[in-house]
Amino acid sequence: MQKNYINSPTEVIFCKKCVHSNQKVVSSSLISDDAEHSNRTRMGFENGVCQGCLQVERKYNQNIDWNEREKKLRKILEKYRSRNGSFDCIVPGSGGKDSVFQAEILKKKYNMNPLTVTFSPHIYTDSGMKNFHNWPLYGGVHNYLYTPSGDVHRKLTSLAFKNLLHPFQPFIFGQRHFASHMALLFKIPLIFMGESQSEAGSADEKDEIMMPYKYWSKTKNQKILISGLELEELNSKYKISTHDLKFYLPNEVDELVKNNIQVLYLGEFEKFEPQENYYLATKVSKFTGNAERTQQTFSKYSSIDDKIDNFHFYTAYVKFGYGRCTEEATKEIRHGYITRDEGVRLVHKYDHEFPDRYFKDFLEYMDISEEAFYETLDKFRPDHLWEKKGNDYKYCKNWILKHKVK
Ligand SMILES: [Zn+2]
Repeated sequence: MQKNYINSPTEVIFCKKCVHSNQKVVSSSLISDDAEHSNRTRMGFENGVCQGCLQVERKYNQNIDWNEREKKLRKILEKYRSRNGSFDCIVPGSGGKDSVFQAEILKKKYNMNPLTVTFSPHIYTDSGMKNFHNWPLYGGVHNYLYTPSGDVHRKLTSLAFKNLLHPFQPFIFGQRHFASHMALLFKIPLIFMGESQSEAGSADEKDEIMMPYKYWSKTKNQKILISGLELEELNSKYKISTHDLKFYLPNEVDELVKNNIQVLYLGEFEKFEPQENYYLATKVSKFTGNAERTQQTFSKYSSIDDKIDNFHFYTAYVKFGYGRCTEEATKEIRHGYITRDEGVRLVHKYDHEFPDRYFKDFLEYMDISEEAFYETLDKFRPDHLWEKKGNDYKYCKNWILKHKVK
């Protein structure tokens, strides 16, 4: 196993404004993600400041005319708004703060009639399940929930963990592509997502109001990798058929274009701030955060639906050297809720925390031993990020990060 990923800069640099580093991977075509993540690029920097910070600054601090943006959105929506009460747009989501916010704004402010669609989490947390049910119950939206077979999803997750150290990848496939299947099925061409990838530091999406097709479609004979394997291999070796994968996989771009299906970023027209969305969701759908702080970070309300999610963040920490707290603190800094110094303190306190709360559930779900778990993690630790110290392997205490944000 290669101990450094392609495109991974071996010199670690931290942003002067937030707590992120040049190890941050930005969005890519999901369907070509191989074991080395060779299709991934890293967040760019300009004069010591990361692209994510530059994008947010450009968007929020430079006298953006939000009225102008609203007008622009209204003009687009005029073409799509239903006159007979049928659904006129799709909001994919889990009933978390961001999807509740989107559906509510589209309904109340823009007089649209969204259908909400959900690709089910692997193992719902209690609060994730409650928030999901409360969304239609109190939030006044209609919802379609798709739940893949546990046999298929478990196998894919386990393979993605072993092949890519990315156990959440199959879920991300479903989350990314399910809405376009529903759009084709119900002939609802407009799909809304929240923030554009530019805020995650992707420079090639600057000023995009629509998600480029390359992120959520495929060309006719394009090779697709899921869990690091080609579809033929999944079928022959693991008995997972293309039919089993239907709602995980993207549609063909020609089909989407022919039906005029588009993904718009609501975040390009409306301010999209984590705390504000949270407050709104508590009112609209009685959204509640967890009683306990989420492990590996300081918050109680972000991405809390799925027990597997904790290992999505922890495996990323192993591969790229930044954890869940870095991701969340960065957002809070960029939006002015905390200072960089406070962010640094939080990262030192939480980023390395092992998510032991759901560890047993995760091992059982994947059907692997604790030893095999640590062995897989260690195969993917890049040498430039990690140093082995001592023999206390339980909860990875024998590894320390070489570079810390200061
Ligand atoms: Zn930054």
